[in-house]
Amino acid sequence: MHPFTLLFVLALAASLAVELWLLARQVRAVRAQRDRVPAPFAAAVRPADHARAADYTVARAGVAVVERVAGAAFAFAMTLGGGIAALDAALAHAALPTQSNQVATMAPFGLLAALLGLPLEAWRTFRVEARFGFNRTTPALFAADALKGLAIAALLLLPLAVLLLWLMQRAGAAWWVPAFGAWAAFSVLVGWAWPRFIAPLFNRFRELEAGTLRDAIESLARRCGFEPRGVFVMDGSRRSTHGNAFFTGLGRNKRIVFFDTLVAALAPAELQAVLAHELGHFRLRHVALRLAVSLGLAFAGFALLAWLGRQPWFQPALGVAAGGPHTLLLLFMTAAPVFLFVLRPLSALLSRRHEFAADRYAAEHSDAAALADALVKLYRDNASTLTPDPLYTAFHASHPPALARIARLAPDRHA
Ligand SMILES: [Zn+2]
Repeated sequence: MHPFTLLFVLALAASLAVELWLLARQVRAVRAQRDRVPAPFAAAVRPADHARAADYTVARAGVAVVERVAGAAFAFAMTLGGGIAALDAALAHAALPTQSNQVATMAPFGLLAALLGLPLEAWRTFRVEARFGFNRTTPALFAADALKGLAIAALLLLPLAVLLLWLMQRAGAAWWVPAFGAWAAFSVLVGWAWPRFIAPLFNRFRELEAGTLRDAIESLARRCGFEPRGVFVMDGSRRSTHGNAFFTGLGRNKRIVFFDTLVAALAPAELQAVLAHELGHFRLRHVALRLAVSLGLAFAGFALLAWLGRQPWFQPALGVAAGGPHTLLLLFMTAAPVFLFVLRPLSALLSRRHEFAADRYAAEHSDAAALADALVKLYRDNASTLTPDPLYTAFHASHPPALARIARLAPDRHA
């Protein structure tokens, strides 16, 4: 056995073990506090709501366990299990021109990965979300979403795959430099196009109705240097009753989006505070920063990919005896996340720091107490747990725990 084969198997087993251990810790932490509402929330969250949030968190963790095991099994089956080698061999007989053949091997791999995710998504939507009263997605809408998602992925990713394969074979030893350039251009283009051209294929976006709320929101946005026409309400209620708000897009397509469910649930002062939080993400350039970090990682990734492509042991060590550039790409896409797993806590930490920074910005430019009230409602209505496991949070949570956020926004409420 090649040492790299062993290293890959160990990394795959270790990452799965850590994931399952973290999920078990999360379930234990949530269950242990199921019957005790944390003091700062005692006034706003009824014991029944708190217990429901615990049960919801445990139910979602159950899906996540299956998802993690299936993901690891897929990575193993595709590499050492011979999946990528089998796809390549099956299409070698198709007598297509070399490059079409290579793309034709990559496409079913992507399709397979997408199809494997669908039953889990259906379980989450129609079992878990439905059981807790959140789901509004009909089977027809679910199927339409899946088909649209596949079509968009094919439209965006197939041309990118063709371009990468062409560069790998025609651009010489330093092919990875223009390949990274193409990747960076693609990422920026998608980041820019998403809110304006792709998201509207799934949801309707409209402006807030004219009135005092819109006036207040426009004046707040203007004070914070944001184009008020970039504030939208999205029909999130088409799919679920969960409420949320987010900041997205680059350049002239920057948008702050409220779910209609959130607009219905929050008082005007609370909505303004949430807007101020999202404006914080905008003013502090969090989207651009995240894009820069991911492009830095991609640069290193392409350099590594080019180096691995020159190592005669790499593809055989992952189950492809005689591969080409297309199997190199597929093996790299499958194996890299297994090793990148160790970076997960760093990206979660960066995200939580951004959330604290946006909360601070909101406290300065709006009303800290109103944001704290909005957060309490959001956690309660979304059945988000108030008592997560600290290690699970450190590893996975993109947002700091509710208690930590409220403690900074409204220290007086903290018992
Ligand atoms: Zn945020």
